Amino acid sequence: MNILNLLNGAASNIALTSNERPAVTYKQLRENVVELAEQLNSFGLGRGDRVAIAISNSPEMITVFLATTIAATACPLNPKYKQEEFAFYYEDTQAKALIILPDGNNNALAACSEAMKVITVKTRESGALYFELQTAHQPREVEQATENDIAMILHTSGTTSRPKRVPIRHRNLIASATNFVNAYSLTANDKTLLVMPLFHIHGLVGCMLSTFASGGTVICPPGFNALEFWKLVETFKPTWYSAAPTMHQMVLARASRNSEIIQANQFRFIRSSSAPLPPVILEQIEATLHAPVVQSYSMTEAAHLMTTNPLPPKTRKPGSVGYGFGVDVGIMDDNGNLLPTGSLGEVVVKGANVIDGYENNPQANATAFVSGWFRTGDQGFLDEEGYLSLTGRLKELINRGGEKISPLEVDDVLLRHPAVSEALAFAVPHKTLGEDIHAAVVLKSLTEEKELHSHCSQMLAEFKVPAKFHILEELPRGATGKLQRLNMSKLLKIE
Ligand code: ATP
Ligand code: MG
Repeated sequence: MNILNLLNGAASNIALTSNERPAVTYKQLRENVVELAEQLNSFGLGRGDRVAIAISNSPEMITVFLATTIAATACPLNPKYKQEEFAFYYEDTQAKALIILPDGNNNALAACSEAMKVITVKTRESGALYFELQTAHQPREVEQATENDIAMILHTSGTTSRPKRVPIRHRNLIASATNFVNAYSLTANDKTLLVMPLFHIHGLVGCMLSTFASGGTVICPPGFNALEFWKLVETFKPTWYSAAPTMHQMVLARASRNSEIIQANQFRFIRSSSAPLPPVILEQIEATLHAPVVQSYSMTEAAHLMTTNPLPPKTRKPGSVGYGFGVDVGIMDDNGNLLPTGSLGEVVVKGANVIDGYENNPQANATAFVSGWFRTGDQGFLDEEGYLSLTGRLKELINRGGEKISPLEVDDVLLRHPAVSEALAFAVPHKTLGEDIHAAVVLKSLTEEKELHSHCSQMLAEFKVPAKFHILEELPRGATGKLQRLNMSKLLKIE
């Protein structure tokens, strides 16, 4: 068993569609994936071999990715990396080959060692893809991955430390995609607009594999573009999409100009994951796009989905990330004891989707895997009905003279001010308190620091009110669009 088993849509159903290429049916996709996997074997690549892929979002990327996981282990990389970044990831994953499109990728190519094979993807007249390899090679026997094989290597986003190497097995992906289909009752009639990059777990599982597992259609534009988004909605009529909060905000910013398209295309649901969605933004999306917005909690180490709010008529709780779907969720104290309902502690998860351990990182493994549970590094609590609320990352909590502050709460209060479009509360070093709290904001209309201070004082206990507000043009973000809370005081040079 491997993820090819997820591609079980009806033979003539459309699996992939885009403006750039003719639509691909499930039959065509399955055949092409098997053919490409066999070609990789014929190039001497097989199970356990790491193959880097540097191709941006496209039907080609999806087909190549699937084939690589069947024949070997895929390492999808951001095609926009610089040469040094490619070199780091090739070395870190011990990549034996690189797959690129014919138009090349100079940085990806320049970083290749002599020993690496460079494989180019080409298209036949029939639309089917094939691989080309110039160098000599010793063919391997044709052999498909089993459920215990590592389908892909990803790295965590590096928000709280150096990116950790995450080996994800076929069985983890099958479990996660299946949980996803159940969570949102996806069917073969569903069509998703893929806006998340295919070098992160959100795009790979939360948009792509979950749709294949339902036999539905992936609409696959070349990446996310807020302008194109509404045109694609008009052309392809997706029934749902999943994105990170930043993208939702960009979509929202252009919604008023596209009210006719919104009227004509009713999304079944809209999903947000990968970072906290401030409740006020959730309310705005629902009011503007007239579709239920479900917030979900995900991680690379859990092959994406851990918890989600359910779809109506079941209850969505504002501020909560919902409950586990095929995943056990608990709250643990520092000593590894599970805590009763309502207690605040570290969120731990358990399930067939969760990885067995990081690669080459015994230190992280020793702290993260405790009595069969995986410690997420996030803080939160469960209510009587099992709904999880996250209060922040443990590493991001602010300790102001012993008073622990969840910066998320402060962000949310600031976002409720009419002049604020983005907000990020963060810790700064303080001589006597240890840490003090500051906030960075991006404004959509003029206001003063005094006004922001008084707004926060009305809604927050005094110890949670930021001592200083920094008005910025934009907030610094990491490679995956996540806010860099832990780096703020360094970036703003606050001693
Ligand atoms: P690193 O582990 O390298 O510091 P990272 O944790 O950002 O990076 P990912 O695996 O991409 O890497 O992200 C998982 C994290 O994203 C979770 O642990 C959690 O902190 C955050 N997250 C995901 N979904 C949500 C959500 N709905 N609300 C709040 N936080 C979320
Ligand atoms: Mg993490």
